[in-house]
Amino acid sequence: MATVSLRDEAAGLLQELIRLDTVNPPGNETRAAEHLRAYLEANGVACELFAKVPERANLVARIPGTGDGPRLLLLSHTDTVLADPREWQLDPWAGELRDDQVWGRGALDMKGQVAASAVAVASLAREGFEPDGDLIFAACADEEVGDGFGLQWLVEAHPEAVRAEYCVNEGGGDRLVLDGRVFWVCSTAEKMSAPFRLTVHGRSGHASRPGIADNALVKAAPLLERLGMFHDEPEVGPEVAAFLRAVCGAVPEPMDAVSAARAVHPLAGDIVEPLLGTTLAPTMIAASEKRNVIPNRCEITVDCRILPGHTRDEVEAKVAALLEGAAYDLEWIEAQGGTRSPAETPLWDVVESFVAELEPEAQTVPLLLSGFTDSHWVREAFGTVAYGFFPMRAMEAEVAARLIHSADERIEVDDLELGVRFLRHAALGMSSVR
Ligand SMILES: [Zn+2]
Repeated sequence: MATVSLRDEAAGLLQELIRLDTVNPPGNETRAAEHLRAYLEANGVACELFAKVPERANLVARIPGTGDGPRLLLLSHTDTVLADPREWQLDPWAGELRDDQVWGRGALDMKGQVAASAVAVASLAREGFEPDGDLIFAACADEEVGDGFGLQWLVEAHPEAVRAEYCVNEGGGDRLVLDGRVFWVCSTAEKMSAPFRLTVHGRSGHASRPGIADNALVKAAPLLERLGMFHDEPEVGPEVAAFLRAVCGAVPEPMDAVSAARAVHPLAGDIVEPLLGTTLAPTMIAASEKRNVIPNRCEITVDCRILPGHTRDEVEAKVAALLEGAAYDLEWIEAQGGTRSPAETPLWDVVESFVAELEPEAQTVPLLLSGFTDSHWVREAFGTVAYGFFPMRAMEAEVAARLIHSADERIEVDDLELGVRFLRHAALGMSSVR
């Protein structure tokens, strides 16, 4: 083990993890949990598996603290989305190393960070690292679907296993070059995913005589159009304000935020645009199941993302104003996320100091995510300060964003190595926090 660099160790572990198919559904994350346990225990790290059903285990590893300092949780998930091998240049589950990149489903989302976290913890254990507060590594099941086998279940059934004051998760670490200046993005907050279903009612009939029926699909069309044109009243929350201040030099009025960001760089405008309010995106529609039957109901499913600090009731009122005069039922499907952590914390200082060492001229900026991760479970359950940060610079952020959940997903070994460096830096830095 001593002759293998941390870089090769992380790449090798990632290759092994990719070869364990953990496509969710069905998940089968126990394969990955057992593999990680064997690796970590061989390095002297105590592990426990927690499973609601035997084939979907969550792994929790721990280097116990010697004092009562804050606990740091390195959070990750071992499940992946599916892959269609016909779209790929290489087998998505072969874990091939080619041109200093590890290829395969999950390389970016997020077995790469799983491997880097495990190697960071294992290498610290080998060095006899004694943190003041516990250093915890959790590799959870079921993030991609969220059927209640992963962190959601863990914080309810085994809260002491993952309770921590601070947490590093996925969802950030992009390196942005805007107008010649470098920004490293650390996500500190996430929008709420709150999809809903609108049902429009009519009266069925034979399609050969449309005049005497009441076609719910046709009645739904103008509602669909209005939903698609929705633009929320813009507002600039604390994370977006901090991002704009760094990128634009000042915080513009909410109405001017996108154009001000775009004036610096189009990418900055694209980043800010969905973060100024609630967004509505109709994505699915269902009506008659027979070509010759006029539907008596039509259901429109709307993907809705709400800013932290706002509620579904507020959005329902906005939808009512938008669709004024129309008759429909609105039913919320679920609500997840919509949480934030403060950006002035010891963990922020640790992220910032890593960037300062790596690239002294760069700036670390907080960001609100338009999507969501597992971070909200620990924020809600324990008040954990949770950030998304896994630094990548060998692969451009835009390239990585295109490969996630897509064909030919792969990670640069340079970025894996950088990830190990950051996670070790975070563990060592947080260990001296009082
Ligand atoms: Zn993920």
